[in-house]
Amino acid sequence: MTLDAATLDAGDPLAPLRERFVGADTPLVYLDGNSLGRPLRATAQRVRAFVEDEWGGRLIRGWDERWYDLPLTLGDRLGEVVLGAAPGQVAVGDSTTVLLYKMARAAVAARPGRSEIVVDRDNFPTDRYVVEGVAAECGLTVRWIEADPDGGVTAEDLAPVLGPETALVVVSHVAYRSGYLADVEGLARLAHDAGAWILVDLCHSSGAVPVQLDAWQVDVAVGCTYKYLNGGPGSPAFGYVASRHLEDGSFAQPVQGWMGAADSFTMGPSYAPARGIRRLLSGTPPIVGMLGLEDMVELLAEAGIEAVRAKSVALTEYAVALVDRDLPDVRVASPRAPAVRGGHITIAHPRMREVTASLWERDVIPDFRMPDGLRIGLSPLSTSFGEVADGVAAIGQALSG
Ligand SMILES: *Cc1c(COP(=O)(O)O)cnc(C)c1O
Repeated sequence: MTLDAATLDAGDPLAPLRERFVGADTPLVYLDGNSLGRPLRATAQRVRAFVEDEWGGRLIRGWDERWYDLPLTLGDRLGEVVLGAAPGQVAVGDSTTVLLYKMARAAVAARPGRSEIVVDRDNFPTDRYVVEGVAAECGLTVRWIEADPDGGVTAEDLAPVLGPETALVVVSHVAYRSGYLADVEGLARLAHDAGAWILVDLCHSSGAVPVQLDAWQVDVAVGCTYKYLNGGPGSPAFGYVASRHLEDGSFAQPVQGWMGAADSFTMGPSYAPARGIRRLLSGTPPIVGMLGLEDMVELLAEAGIEAVRAKSVALTEYAVALVDRDLPDVRVASPRAPAVRGGHITIAHPRMREVTASLWERDVIPDFRMPDGLRIGLSPLSTSFGEVADGVAAIGQALSG
């Protein structure tokens, strides 16, 4: 592989799509699209049109015309383009954290008599905190997996902690720190063999890595939409519930609100859940927050998720090669095999905290993760190979400065 950025950009079939993003024409080097994706130019138009026409013009009629069903219609589209999910299983709304809570509570309620929830010590903090809270609330025990911090949860890690007491396994598809790409299908099989459900967090994979929730037999999944799905700060998360759990009624979430009830506008005396995935909703959904996501899902459909993954792999391979060549004192704290790596890498050095701070002042934007990791996020459609080269060069200068 050549390490010449101009050659790589010239040979990148997805390169023209980069111009669709706000700020792509500036010299700023953005290596944190896995924390907050860049906005699409189309979204600026869409937000203005929404305020003036859809909200300003249609007013309350907008609910009947589009908004009431948008969490489910957009969920279906996301399921089709990004998640490998047939219609009727995905809803958009709430934050990832809130959906993790709803899903974990629903899962343990569906496995009565079982006393343990399995999660790994290096999972994202909110995932661990939610699991601790649900365990405390429901009188369950957290069974911790100690996974390799430069890797992630493997079948060998999971198998020994499973048993007849396991109610639920919670894993991230891509580990937020190392970038490790878990074998969700294999982990789901293990969980099911033990009679447990699996809850998969897709925050760091959806939009960069192909996901096949139906084929992998996942029970429930959540993910955010402001990372590789470019929905904007605080854009709502999505939740997936396998149709088998919706059809047999085994999925019951704890925040019973009118928007997830069987008939929202009967204003009935007591709650009965809606049929299907609508039952995941609680209150009025955040419509404005879905506008950016609508645009990005269509862009991903245009590009094709397999092509997005191919570019993602090329970008992380390129970053690793440059780090190996140019930053001899830095350790790659991510898997070296692209087959088990998502869309970002972490590189470690004792000075990475101050390095990150100095880079931000120079418009080179990676992020820092405790204790010594600089994370290089490579959002496939908005990142060029030139940005990667400039970014790694700037890291080298900051380390030697
Ligand atoms: C980003 C991220 C979250 C964020 O949760 P919010 O409720 O959106 O703040 C959760 N889990 C993982 C794995 C993440 O990467």
